[in-house]
Amino acid sequence: MRLAVVGGGITGLAAAHRAVEIARERGARLELTLFEGADRLGGTIQTERRDGYLIECGADSFLSEKPWALALCRRLGLEERIVRTDDRFRRTYVVFGGRLHPLPEGFQLLAPTRLLPFAASGLFSWAGKLRMALDLVLPRGLDPDESLGAFVRRRLGRQALERVAQPLVAGIYTADPDSLSLAATMPRFLEAERRDRSLILALRRAARRAPAESRATSGARWSLFLTMADGMEELVRALQARLPAGAVRLKEHVTGLARDGGRWRIATADGQAAEADAVIVAAEAHQAARMLRYTEPSLALLLEGIPYASSATVTFAWRRAEIPHPLDGFGFVVPQVERRPVIACTFSSVKYPGRAPEGGALLRVFLGGAMNERILEGDDETLARLARAELAELLGVRAEPFFARVGRYPRAMPQYHVGHLARVDAIEGCLRALPGLRLAGGAYRGVGIADCVRSGEAAAEGLLAEAATSGRG
Ligand SMILES: Cc1cc2nc3c(=O)[nH]c(=O)nc-3n(C[C@H](O)[C@H](O)[C@H](O)COP(=O)(O)OP(=O)(O)OC[C@H]3O[C@@H](n4cnc5c(N)ncnc54)[C@H](O)[C@@H]3O)c2cc1C
Repeated sequence: MRLAVVGGGITGLAAAHRAVEIARERGARLELTLFEGADRLGGTIQTERRDGYLIECGADSFLSEKPWALALCRRLGLEERIVRTDDRFRRTYVVFGGRLHPLPEGFQLLAPTRLLPFAASGLFSWAGKLRMALDLVLPRGLDPDESLGAFVRRRLGRQALERVAQPLVAGIYTADPDSLSLAATMPRFLEAERRDRSLILALRRAARRAPAESRATSGARWSLFLTMADGMEELVRALQARLPAGAVRLKEHVTGLARDGGRWRIATADGQAAEADAVIVAAEAHQAARMLRYTEPSLALLLEGIPYASSATVTFAWRRAEIPHPLDGFGFVVPQVERRPVIACTFSSVKYPGRAPEGGALLRVFLGGAMNERILEGDDETLARLARAELAELLGVRAEPFFARVGRYPRAMPQYHVGHLARVDAIEGCLRALPGLRLAGGAYRGVGIADCVRSGEAAAEGLLAEAATSGRG
């Protein structure tokens, strides 16, 4: 079987690798080509080393509670290379009134689960706390595809949304919570309401069950966030090494896909065309839309309708002694209502081991996102200046950094707006009429690395099963 994969981010690489694995297991012939438009693999995974610091310009970790990335690392023999977070400092700060406040212990993204730390927190007023407690008695909602913002406002009130849910969710989705579909992004909260009515009670029950469950699944060995000793690109390199020699074609931007009899024709920007029995498109949905716009216009229209946000990171290195703040946490998030130019900051050298040399500190600021995209119109120097001014004010660091590294990710974060799941159902409906074609990646049913691995692998499994039944594989 001749298989083409378009896109060499984690999704495309996981898809290509899974296809190779299955072909080997079955002793089937596989001719694989991976087309990547850029001059490097990894997409939004981008690790660099500089002066003894390890910089993650893009994604810096993956979740252990979603098992697919961890399982892939195990199959690649990388288990010993996985590093966990330093959970002595597993605390997040929230900027409120221009100061850092610790998120009360037990606060789970949208709602509190522990009474005392919540009651003692200076992050909420008494009126705000009482409004959150109303969740205990409020009835269930009726809307099956409510926005995350509307859901939190309805159950827990405005302060819970503005001071915690919005900034924490922005750190993951860089999104406006009033557009974000709760069912598509965090269905567990919707299910919790359906099952237990009160979100606080549901989360408390789940937290009581959790220790036993986590021992039974991922085990106490892993923290919630995991990364690789040499940075996330270590995973990219390991995947690349498992692909057949010559399979990866860099700087090959795919411009069009068309069915040609029972096969697919792949056109690239340099005017070349290739043929394949099957294609996995693991590029962003807006890119997939461009490839299919003339040949499958209704599918392309659905894909084009998935909005994307742009973001940037600025990573700074200082001497640890130059930062007055104790850095006793993983970082801070910034609510939109604070009207500051940054979304969040990770204390990278505190959260992960091996990110800075002895006596050094590495801090990464996150900017842009759906609610503040215009800031990215500034050049790198402007972004670095803005980010530095924020750290000066919030952490008191005034020294000149050793360096500031800006990473830009234009239209890289898919936004799951209300209606997203219905759109993805419709996309999958179109694909059923297009044998030999699969779409994979963060645009559809989960945005993080673990979900991307699952999506890429599922695409490969689906296509190879299809080929086996049609006699091609
Ligand atoms: C700043 C930032 C931080 C993040 N942090 C985390 C994190 O800590 N944990 C986490 O789980 N997730 C994180 N994410 C999300 C995560 O990085 C992505 O979900 C994941 O890496 C997406 O992988 P992908 O392969 O689907 O897409 P991408 O990484 O976007 O890769 C798509 C690839 O397709 C290529 N391509 C596009 N069009 C074409 C074409 N026409 N022809 C050929 N090639 C093409 C692109 O060049 C690119 O290499 C973060 C994202 C960003 C932007």
